Amino acid sequence: MATGKINVSVDNIFPLIKKFLYSDHEIFLRELISNATDATLKLKHLTSIGEAKVEYGNPMIEVKVDKEGKKIHLIDQGIGMTEEEVKKYINEVAFSGAEEFLNKYEDGAKDSGIIGHFGLGFYSAFMVASKVEIVTKSYKDAPAVHWSCDGSPKFNLKKGKKEDRGTEIILHIAEDSTEFLEDARINELLSKYNKFMPIPIKFGTKTETLPKPEDAKEEDPAPTQEVDNIVNNPNPAWTKQPTDLKDEDYSGFYRELYPMQFEEPLFNIHLNVDYPFNLTGILYFPKLTNDLNVQKDRIQLYQNQVFVTDNVEGIVPEFLTMLRGVIDSPDIPLNVSRSYLQADGAVKKIASYITRKVADKLNSLFKNNREDFEKKWNDIKIVIEYGMLSEDKFFEKADKFALYPTVDGAYFTFEELQEKIKDSQTDKDEKLVVLYTTDAEAQHSYIQAAKAKGYEVLLMDSPIIAHLMQKLETSKEKISFARVDADHLDNLIKKDDTQISKLSDEEKEKLKTNLEEVIEDKTYTIQLEAMDSDSSPFIITEPEFMRRMKDMQRTGGGGGMYGMGSMPDMYNLIVNTNHELVGEILNTKTAKKRERLINQSIDLARLSKGLLKGEELTNFIKRSYEMVK
Ligand code: ADP
Repeated sequence: MATGKINVSVDNIFPLIKKFLYSDHEIFLRELISNATDATLKLKHLTSIGEAKVEYGNPMIEVKVDKEGKKIHLIDQGIGMTEEEVKKYINEVAFSGAEEFLNKYEDGAKDSGIIGHFGLGFYSAFMVASKVEIVTKSYKDAPAVHWSCDGSPKFNLKKGKKEDRGTEIILHIAEDSTEFLEDARINELLSKYNKFMPIPIKFGTKTETLPKPEDAKEEDPAPTQEVDNIVNNPNPAWTKQPTDLKDEDYSGFYRELYPMQFEEPLFNIHLNVDYPFNLTGILYFPKLTNDLNVQKDRIQLYQNQVFVTDNVEGIVPEFLTMLRGVIDSPDIPLNVSRSYLQADGAVKKIASYITRKVADKLNSLFKNNREDFEKKWNDIKIVIEYGMLSEDKFFEKADKFALYPTVDGAYFTFEELQEKIKDSQTDKDEKLVVLYTTDAEAQHSYIQAAKAKGYEVLLMDSPIIAHLMQKLETSKEKISFARVDADHLDNLIKKDDTQISKLSDEEKEKLKTNLEEVIEDKTYTIQLEAMDSDSSPFIITEPEFMRRMKDMQRTGGGGGMYGMGSMPDMYNLIVNTNHELVGEILNTKTAKKRERLINQSIDLARLSKGLLKGEELTNFIKRSYEMVK
């Protein structure tokens, strides 16, 4: 019928398409299947409103690989195109899209991530094909059209041979793209990009085993039949109404998304809004460990059921990127850079909607089944704590359901905790002191001492807990956190009833000299304290402030106190002047015996703080055996 020249400013746009999109060649398949899907959905719409007087039927999209002929065929049963439409949509519209896209690239807009995912459309075929043919027949009563183009701006248009409605795209695969003639590669792409597209996609056939007929003999093989191999699930769970889904549908969908995950998710959140933006999706809370780096399976972003990316940074608040699942929204602008995306108003609204939904879901889980929520706490706390730290809105909501477990296995909300400990753990300055441990085994003796005084000890062992405590101390009034080994208890929670020291000032001086003669290690600052006579005689403590700063720095940040992490550890050696043993040390006449008593006592204190190791531990054991004899 006609040949012509596509109207473009660049002489040969195709080498450019190849060059600019080098790393992303594989998206051609997604683009063409998207077009085929659109064409099919358009027909569905037109038949449903009575515009198109044809039978919609059960259309599918077929992908065929002809390895010998080095061709890929994509066949749909959608609206098709008339000659006029091919001229308009393929030669003009599609091309202007491709050109516009390339201009963007040339302007240096090439950014990480999302750019390149959308926008090229039909012409992305030339990333892998040296020649492209379109054979199409419109649903309207018009003859079929055959368009072909070998990658130069010249095209050829003639009458086509096609009886049934729809479009067939034939890609003559270029020499450098023969990887796409492998079934395995096509399968990989179909499952990456098209797994949940709304029109069934056929790729080859598969053998299905049928049930044996009733009169079959034992040894008879079960009958089989060849059926279409449909590679996608056109109706994924997130496109359905929550009321139509059962628990097993959600867990089934989780397995569909992450076939390699064997652990069940803890719970899910179904997202569904249509105003002021469109968003659907399902988020799953997986079991999370304290290891922040394990994060293989990520949230997947879709646009109308087409996979876009699994890098949702900037769209989903960072603390929620630890979750899994799917978000589908046509309202997320995808042809833009990440920094633009983060500033986009719609995207901001989406992020805050997701945050709110997650908070509401957690709150209802907490309210409806507290026991279960407590059981799950350990697996979800890291997300909640991280969210409380990074999003103020989330902090406000989570403050009502965030839990603070004690070493005895009780779980308190912050309000309950305050109520529980206010009588015993408020100090003389009216400040509530919350005692905690980061490791109940390692800090066992300190925990026991605190419990002996009737104090509650929280178990706060997640990696970012130091940051959260810092935040709680500043956002709540008259609260401070102290680890059980930060000081001796009378100092941690100062009360009015100060202990009277059994020792006189001279005796204290003498004791101090005695101790300093023996203790050469300068990491320990000696501190004499009058405590209960049945409290430990020697305790090693690690002041809260420094230790917490170091912990914070290890997990990022640390209030700008850089260099803290490399500072040596500082310890106090607290000597209980009211303890019998300390009195004995003071009264011992022989220097040798005194030295032995002091060394042994300090080693015991170090042992209970987990600081006695290596040669010192060996010596301690030797010395102890000598004493046992
Ligand atoms: P976009 O899909 O973003 O509009 P494309 O370059 O992919 O841009 O396609 C341009 C136009 O060509 C489409 O809008 C559509 O009208 C037409 N088209 C492409 N593929 C098909 C198809 N398989 N069936 C019918 N029309 C198609």
